[in-house]
Amino acid sequence: MPTQAGLCCPLGGFHIDPVRPVERAVITHAHSDHARSGHGAVLATAETLDLMRLRYGPNFAGQTQALRYGETLRLGEVSVSLHPAGHVLGSAQVAVSYGGLRIVASGDYKDALDPTCTPFEPIRCDVFITEATFGLPVFRHGDAAAEVAKLLASVRLFPERAHLVGAYALGKAQRVIALLRAAGYDAPIYLHGAIEPLTRYYQSRGIALGELRAVKDASKAELAGQITLAPPSATSDLWTRRFPDPLTAFASGWMRVRARARQRGVELPLVISDHADWDGLTATIKASGAGEIWVTHGQEDALVHWCTTQGLAAQPLELVGYGEEDDDAAAPASEAATP
Ligand SMILES: [Zn+2]
Repeated sequence: MPTQAGLCCPLGGFHIDPVRPVERAVITHAHSDHARSGHGAVLATAETLDLMRLRYGPNFAGQTQALRYGETLRLGEVSVSLHPAGHVLGSAQVAVSYGGLRIVASGDYKDALDPTCTPFEPIRCDVFITEATFGLPVFRHGDAAAEVAKLLASVRLFPERAHLVGAYALGKAQRVIALLRAAGYDAPIYLHGAIEPLTRYYQSRGIALGELRAVKDASKAELAGQITLAPPSATSDLWTRRFPDPLTAFASGWMRVRARARQRGVELPLVISDHADWDGLTATIKASGAGEIWVTHGQEDALVHWCTTQGLAAQPLELVGYGEEDDDAAAPASEAATP
């Protein structure tokens, strides 16, 4: 059931991704709008717990418990298991079973290929709780590799310019690096200080990202013709003065909306998202086999309407507090609806 603190499972005595401190939380992934500090107890994947520790320090929760994908745990009167969500490293869908009924809360997810995390796994269930960040038919993300090819073409075309790529620090930055490596780019990639610790953590978990350098240790001349990743906010401030003739790119699902790219002064928009697009959302809903769909955050109305045309019972949950911070969901819905 939806509550002020977020989704609650009264029979299990826990909340999922609560937006305010609760006694017992199950956390789907470490983006800061879903994973907050100050809970009594947190259950999540080991990676999500590590990433929370990196961001908030060792005392981010009273106690923690790690659960592996597919492992089942009894909480109160229900059984809980976590399954890959394909969104960022450690991201999980939460399956809650009671009697013959299974509800899956998917958190943020994507069904597109991403070499930096375990692929999304469709889970059969009776009730499927989905996000709707890109829940409008206009959102079709396309091929992320083709977007990275545009970036590499620009680097070849402007070898004297520094290429600054805005990418959210957790998940997006590491995925862009992995896509660059998959495209055969083997030069060192430079990182803003806010991206470095999370990226080093990905490497410690065995994700191959090639040679990475801290941008703070590089001279201005050295950065010409190189690729640097930074949080999106840094690409439009004074920090960019350390770069020779910087060319600004931004990797986000919102770059499908040209007005947003112009508004931010982005020269090279790259449509790369860590959320399912319209086709991904609708295919995932079908694959769940659920007869009832609850839509959490994003563009709820269009997705709820689509569900009813498919003969599915559907309702928006109107949860607040998600999509505000550090992932793609950061764009206000009103702007997004104006392609
Ligand atoms: Zn997220």
